[in-house]
Amino acid sequence: MKLDASRREFARAKNLFPGGVNSPVRAFKSVGGEPIFIARGSGARLYDEDGNAYLDYALSWGPLLAGHAHPRIVAAVSAAAALGTSFGAPTARESALAEKVRALLPSMRRLRFVSSGTEATQSALRVARGFTRRERVVKFEGCFHGATDALLVRAGSGVETLGLPDSPGVPAALAALTTVLPFNDSEAVRAHFRGPLGRETACAIVEPVVGNMGVLLPRPGFHQALREETRRAGALLVFDEVMTGFRVARGGAQQKFGIEPDLTCLGKVVGGGLPIGIYGGREEIMAQVAPEGPVYQAGTLSGNPLAMAAGIAMLDLVAEPGFTEAVERMTSDLCEQLREQCRRAKVTAQLNQAGSMWTCFFAEDEVFDYPSAKRADTARFGRVHRALLERGVYLPPSQFESAFLSSEHTAADIEATAAAFRAAL
Ligand SMILES: *Cc1c(COP(=O)(O)O)cnc(C)c1O
Repeated sequence: MKLDASRREFARAKNLFPGGVNSPVRAFKSVGGEPIFIARGSGARLYDEDGNAYLDYALSWGPLLAGHAHPRIVAAVSAAAALGTSFGAPTARESALAEKVRALLPSMRRLRFVSSGTEATQSALRVARGFTRRERVVKFEGCFHGATDALLVRAGSGVETLGLPDSPGVPAALAALTTVLPFNDSEAVRAHFRGPLGRETACAIVEPVVGNMGVLLPRPGFHQALREETRRAGALLVFDEVMTGFRVARGGAQQKFGIEPDLTCLGKVVGGGLPIGIYGGREEIMAQVAPEGPVYQAGTLSGNPLAMAAGIAMLDLVAEPGFTEAVERMTSDLCEQLREQCRRAKVTAQLNQAGSMWTCFFAEDEVFDYPSAKRADTARFGRVHRALLERGVYLPPSQFESAFLSSEHTAADIEATAAAFRAAL
């Protein structure tokens, strides 16, 4: 496989950006080798600067539920761009997208647009703290909520991959207000919220299906315990559905598990590939946000017309009967075929799946929390990742990142992927 142009571009980028990239996991460090520079995408495929084609299972880390350059999204964004790219004033498009979001996630009674998932979680924390007048927050081991200071503690994916458990630059005093509990451990949740720190806790934030440690599913009863204990302690429950929203189910993990969080964060899919974040929830909580209330939060490009147009086109697709179900079915088929290839090759692997999110852990035992994920064979993942790239299959370049499917992946693509996987194993 010829990668001369990617090599050339990486050398150039290293002279411009830390590690040659603008977000750490893109650097391919955890799988070895150098990043591939992308020229364009179409449907389920990526094309690099050397002209190589790949079936894409990274999908920009989740947003591209409708694949690359979906005609309806491209048309919507182009039409919006022709009318002006930003106004810094209210537009009808914001309300149109907000109504579509609320129709799918009714717990988001009032909401606010921001420009990234990080901004959404950071703002949700501020609102939770402002509303409860408490400062402590609870997060779960291995969950990632964006690169926001208070939550960059035991934060999975990029941080895991690079082995930076606590980032320098995060003030110790701020990190000290964050309690980290083990994911899927209802007893630890109960002990915290019934203990002395429970009544000092503003909120618990959780990825309802973890995507940033690879895909980890909640055990039965975990979210119920979290809902019950936060409520009892007067703390808020924040579902970070930046990755799970519109992927785990049309109405997110909250619909799938029947849990009503107090606040929800969205991003990724809801922007159809453009920069976006949303936070929202109960009316009396969101009434704390300026200008209605005293909790300050603002953004120059919030509710950006291009992102709104892309989001509206995306959610119109999501709302079509059978759309998310079809992507989920295709994901199940892929996981089943990969399981079968592992059995045949006598390689032990755990295929975890929720909706159109999936991970192939090269692990002996069930993977359901941080320690069990950490036991995965990352060296093998790196080798398989490289072997798949050579065969035209692009997985996220880390064992600890969710892979995805889009509506544009076909049964033939799945078959081709399974064949490449067999060869790679
Ligand atoms: C990606 C992600 C974020 C951060 O979103 P950005 O748009 O990258 O800032 C937050 N939470 C979860 C669960 C995510 O997967």
